This record gives sequence, C-alpha cells and structure tokens, in this order.
Amino acid sequence: MARTVSLMHTECAAPLLQDHTRASLAEQLFMTGARSASTCSLTAAKALALAFTGARRGGGERSTSEAWQGDTAHDDEAERRREGSASEAWQSDSALDAVGIGAWARATLREHVAAPSLALVERAPSEDGTLRLVLAARDGARIECVLIPAEAGRRSARVTLCISSQVGCARACSFCETGAMGLERQLSAGEIVDQVRLAARLCRSDDARPVDRRRAAGASSGGRETISNIVFMGMGEPLDNWRAVSGAIALLTEPQVFAVPPSRITVSTVGVADKLQEFFATTRAELAVSLHAPDDERRRRIMPVTERFGLAALRAELVRTLPRGRRVLFQYVLFAGFNDAPADAELVADFVAGIHCRVNVIPANPGPDQGLLGSPPARVTAFVATLVARGVEVLVRAPRGRDIGAACGQLAGRRRGVAVAERAVVERAVAERAVAERAVAERAVAERERTRAEQS
Ligand code: SF4
Repeated sequence: MARTVSLMHTECAAPLLQDHTRASLAEQLFMTGARSASTCSLTAAKALALAFTGARRGGGERSTSEAWQGDTAHDDEAERRREGSASEAWQSDSALDAVGIGAWARATLREHVAAPSLALVERAPSEDGTLRLVLAARDGARIECVLIPAEAGRRSARVTLCISSQVGCARACSFCETGAMGLERQLSAGEIVDQVRLAARLCRSDDARPVDRRRAAGASSGGRETISNIVFMGMGEPLDNWRAVSGAIALLTEPQVFAVPPSRITVSTVGVADKLQEFFATTRAELAVSLHAPDDERRRRIMPVTERFGLAALRAELVRTLPRGRRVLFQYVLFAGFNDAPADAELVADFVAGIHCRVNVIPANPGPDQGLLGSPPARVTAFVATLVARGVEVLVRAPRGRDIGAACGQLAGRRRGVAVAERAVVERAVAERAVAERAVAERAVAERERTRAEQS
C-alpha cells in the first residue's frame, strides 16, 4: 500500500545553483572580470561542493566515489544544509570564509539558491524492496523515480536509482505508460540532479531505505545502503533533452561535488541516432540502446522512432561514433510470440556482431499495449541460449517493482489506474483459461477411466 507524504514547496524565483555545472558557474564568475578563469573555476567548485555536500574545501578533498552520498564526518551539517532554508547556509559569510571564497565572488553566487526544486509527494514500496517515488516540481508537474536494491539472494548492498529526464515523452512507444502521456515538458538540469539528491537523502534515513523484505528477516546489508548506480530509464527520452541531461551529468560527476563515477551512470535511448556523436563526445557515461525488435517492420509497430531511424541506420551510426574502448548496452524486451523466437535471437546476434556490447534481455511487464504480453520462461531461456551460442554477452534482468507500477515501461502516474485495470483483466483471463483447461483434462481422464472400466 503506497504511503503518501505531503511536503510544502519552497517558493523560489531565484536561479537554482543545481542548474549549473562547474564550468557554467565559473563562466558567470568570470563575467565579473575580477579574476582569472582558473580562479573562477576553483571558486565555482568550492561553492558547489559547499552547497551540495557540505565540504569545507573544494579542490579535490571529496574526490572519492562515495563523496556524493555525504557519508562523512560532515553528514549532519550537510543534511541540515540540504533541508529547506538551511540549504542556503552556504551563502553565509562565515561558511564562505571557511572555504576561502572571497568577497569578489559572493554577489554573483548569492544570486543563486540551492533549495530543492522537487518535493516528495508519494512513496510506494514494493514487496521486492523497490521504492517508487512520486515527485512534484514547483509548477505542479509530477515525475517519478525508482530506487532498486540488489536482487534477493545477492550479497551486494548495491542500490540503483532510475531517474526521469522529461515530464512524459514524445516517443510514444506502444508498450510504455509514459509514452501514452505524450510530452508535457522538459526537466531542467536542477530537477534531474534533485532526483538524485532527494533519493540519496532517503537512502541515508533508516526508515525509508529500500530493503528487500523477502530477505530482510534473515540478512543484513552489513551497513548503510547507498546509491551505487544511476540510470536514465525513467520517464522521457534523455537524448531529446540532452542539454539538461548532460548538464546534470556534468554536475553529478564533478569530482569536487557529487563525484559519481561516469561509469556508474547509464543513459538509455530508443535510438535517436543523430544524437549519438554528441553523446559520446560529451560524456563518459554508459549508453543503453533499446532494440526490442529484430527487424524494422516489427520495431515500427512498437517504436515509432523506427520511422526516422531504421535499424540499419542506427547500427551504422553506432559503429561510426562508438569510441574505442567503450561499449553499448542493448536492451531487448521479450514479448510473447512477437519478438522472442530463436530466429529473432539470430537476427539480434547479427545486429550486434562487431559492436562491443552486452545485451540485456528483459521479460516484458504489463503495459498499455494489450497485444504485448511477457514471454514464458521457456521462450526466454531458448532466446538467451541462442544469443549465447552466437557468442553474445547476455544478462537477463529480473523485473523489479511490478506490483507498484515501477518496472520498465510502467512509469507514469496518470496512466497507472488504466495499467492496473488492464493487468487485472489479463490475469483474470489467464486464470480462467487455466481452470477451463484443467477441467477439460480432468474430464478426459475420467472418460478414459470409464471406458477402461467398461471394457474390462
Ligand atoms: S520507452 Fe522511453 S522513449 Fe519510449 S515512450 Fe517510454 S519513456 Fe519514451
């Protein structure tokens, strides 16, 4: 049962600090003409570090991969700064004095606030430990992100955060709840960063940390669970909002600020081929590309992006732009009877041949397209076996958070009621068919027994 948590929005007309990267803030400081570019860059790093991590000094002090989690001796102070008006403490003279930010920079810095741009309005915990968060922006727009702990049975304390890049999405994939919404608006860089800040704060608090209840009784994570990976697989197509997404990634990976390793961030696209070159040139984050069909005809039916970028064009652009030493994660959702035959796996193997990659195979989740249902386990096994036999590296991803509408393709509050109703219809039909088949089988057995008895 989802718990609803109401929070007041912080009214704020001033520009947000989290909409800046270190480079863009340094540029603003440089415009004052008071200091060199390198001094402005260092000052920008100190200000961002102070505002978001509570670090007393910029310049590399918090360059470990865990710095962005705030898991340091400064936690309490950092936590206070993250909350409401306390988040503006970084603007005080004493705080700026402490980190060595001179008076020349303060007027420019004080034009900005670091207050949260999002408020938590609902959190829905799943039985498998997944936690779906509904967040409200200042204009009332609702977005969702999902905290996903390691699967049951794994010793890892790894937690993945799935975040959104847009309110809705224009790409209209038929299996996706968000696609059924259409695009309402782009998210700002600050709103993307704030999903991470807010979720990280929840992870730090004992009562909200995502914990798999099926393993909680007997196992301990052995310590605080922290977000270890960030994936842009929530609402929206990240490459359709690349300016904001790349700005957010720049701030999140900034060594003196959040210090998230780029290899722990994955950007997922439906295959907007003309943005791939810019993607690889801008970031070291991982790229995930959704295939979901082995040929254009079937892919066009479920992913309209195929009209613009067919599979051949997508493959050619990947081969052309993928830098040496980097790899692609291909996502392939299996729909029963649609794209899950061993022959389809052969076509997928042909497509990925020669590309440094891994294929993530994902059994489909219930979505808005009633003609698309998840493949039975035997079909998944046969599909994967065919790929493996062709030498393809494969990972089968277990669905997470289905019961709370948090699994792949299910994010979007407006359509959730419809999705749940559709799922109920499908599940009822499957159950009724099973009962009917069992009755037929039982009648056949009884008939056989009766005939045998009459003959003997
Ligand atoms: S799957 Fe991704 S790109 Fe397609 S409609 Fe949904 S959010 Fe948009």
